[in-house]
Amino acid sequence: MEQTVQTSLLIGGEFVPGAGDVEDVLNPATGDTIARIAEASLDQVQAAVAAASRAFPAWAKTVPKDRANLLLKLADAIEARATEFARLESLNCGKPYLGALNDEIPAVADVFRFFAGACRTQHGQLAGEYLPGYTSMVRRDPLGVVASIAPWNYPLMMAAWKIAPAVAAGNTVVLKPSEQTPLTTLKLAELVAAIFPPGVINVVIGRGDTVGAPLIAQPDVRMISITGDVSTGQKILEAASRTVKRTHLELGGKAPVIVFDDADLEQVVAGLRTFGYYNAGQDCTAACRVYAGPKIYEKLVADLSSAVSTIRVGEQHMDGVEMGPLISERQRSRVASFVERAASQRHIEVTAGGKAGASRGFFYEPTVIAGALQTDEIVRREVFGPVVSVTRFDDPAQAITWANDSDFGLASSVWTADVSRAFKVAAELHYGCTWINTHFMLVSEMPHGGMKRSGYGKDMSVYALEDYTCARHVMAKFE
Ligand code: NAD
Repeated sequence: MEQTVQTSLLIGGEFVPGAGDVEDVLNPATGDTIARIAEASLDQVQAAVAAASRAFPAWAKTVPKDRANLLLKLADAIEARATEFARLESLNCGKPYLGALNDEIPAVADVFRFFAGACRTQHGQLAGEYLPGYTSMVRRDPLGVVASIAPWNYPLMMAAWKIAPAVAAGNTVVLKPSEQTPLTTLKLAELVAAIFPPGVINVVIGRGDTVGAPLIAQPDVRMISITGDVSTGQKILEAASRTVKRTHLELGGKAPVIVFDDADLEQVVAGLRTFGYYNAGQDCTAACRVYAGPKIYEKLVADLSSAVSTIRVGEQHMDGVEMGPLISERQRSRVASFVERAASQRHIEVTAGGKAGASRGFFYEPTVIAGALQTDEIVRREVFGPVVSVTRFDDPAQAITWANDSDFGLASSVWTADVSRAFKVAAELHYGCTWINTHFMLVSEMPHGGMKRSGYGKDMSVYALEDYTCARHVMAKFE
């Protein structure tokens, strides 16, 4: 049954229906159509950038206190509608309603609050004389219009990660959510329109090639921020090179999880059961690539497989549901084909799951792949589904080498009772984040972002605020 949802674009403070192709938005738990929404036409993309451009000079001149107050209002407004946002997010993504309500919406509000505070407390280099008779100072100024492109896995959270630092720093934004999950961003547009001056935040929707590509190509766009697949990041870099735009890329991940023999197995298993399968594993930091020491390996595989078999999979409002479906049939068949190829190898054993769910919707069973080798595709490529591989290592140096032997560099974790070993290994890992005896925990104060093909630029933290500004030198002669 189609629902009544906000389906208009937000351009220069006005809500306008899209004038482009009409796309179905689905409930992944059933495959039913939730809404049919027209994407932005080229004219509308251009109008959104023009509106953001017009709004920029005045917005850039606002003082941090005023920007902070509006961000705080937005956080309050989101919180006041937490149940509506959670309902819509879980409907459009298929994720459990209570997870969206209790984990995601508070984190979204917190991101806006963090940047409200952070933009008022930015520190910089000292002003002073670096040539006799000349005083230098460094300003951090906004860049202009930022084109922000978001993925489908945490639509509202990604909108917050993109809008909050950009706007807090004094930029204006044109945001394009994923064509598969636009609903909460469109709802957010209603709150934004009531709080921010027209044109400061604009929302256009549509597919990557028809709306995303023309958006990032607009000459007045000064920065492109994208969270998505590595291949999309590559396309965006190519397009950005034509006009030398600043880019901020949060791309894929394949997080290694190094488990030493002295680790607390119960905690490891509980951690993997949560952090490997949260959001059906559709998470760029998912704990999906386990390296287990020789003494702990067998028991870890056995205990993890039985723990994973107890994950409650189902529709958004099912009692006690822990995991929902994948986002689309396409994503499910992609995940299934990874598992099939892995399972066809003699050294591999699928010790839990390994099949599509029986009910309608795009479900896939939580899966454990044991006996995987470093050279296997399942260890090397991002699956973006509820699939965890376990590889046995013989000595610690090998585990670190294997963990670093990856195209990706976003997140990693180390599990051990030995504190000095934990810090030594953390120092040797080439990842934007390393957790010790935990995984997946994000906080607004700390930077999130990758190395290698996982991209560059930080979300959250004061580093994100810096990414959305330019350091400028102003020098005065005083003699
Ligand atoms: P995707 O790359 O298919 O799409 C991401 C966004 O880019 C969508 O809005 C899409 O419409 C747009 N897009 C696609 N082609 C474009 C083009 N040529 N020009 C402009 N825009 C274009 O990614 P997805 O499938 O939505 O999300 C999954 C991917 O995102 C995974 O690889 C995952 O690891 C990554 N991800 C990374 C992080 C992180 O923080 N590093 C967080 C979440 C997801």
